[in-house]
Amino acid sequence: MTDCIFCKIIQKKMPTDFIFEDEHIVVFKDIHPKARIHLLVVPKTHIKSLAEISEKEANLIAHMLLVMPSLATREGLKGFRTIINTGKEGGQVIDHLHFHLLGGDHLPGM
Ligand code: 5GP
Ligand code: ZN
Repeated sequence: MTDCIFCKIIQKKMPTDFIFEDEHIVVFKDIHPKARIHLLVVPKTHIKSLAEISEKEANLIAHMLLVMPSLATREGLKGFRTIINTGKEGGQVIDHLHFHLLGGDHLPGM
C-alpha cells in the first residue's frame, strides 16, 4: 500500500535498520520504545490487522510467533511481552498488522 508507513519501511523507502528479515517478515525497533527492548515483527504482505486474517494466513501468523523467542534470546531477554493491538479502539495506530515484542526490564503484570 502506497500510504502505509510499514510498507514503505519494508520496501526500504524509509531508512530503518532491520534486526531480522526473511522471505515473510521484517523486524525492526519501535521508534518510540515503551521498554528497553521494543521490537516490531511485521509481515511483508500488507494485512490491515488481526481482524482481517483468515485460515490462509495461519502459517504466517505461526511464523511471526515462532520467531519471537529467538529474537528475545538474541536481545538477551529472559522474558518478554507480546502485544497485538487491533483496530482503533484496540490501540492500533498503524494499519499494517504487527506484533510488539517488549522486554528488558521487569515488566509489571497486567
Ligand atoms: P500500534 O499502536 O499500531 O500497535 O503500534 C505502532 C507502533 O509503530 C508504535 O509503537 C509506534 O511507535 C511505531 N512506529 C510508528 N511509526 C514508526 C516508524 O516510522 N518507524 C518505527 N520504527 N516505528 C514506528
Ligand atoms: Zn502496509
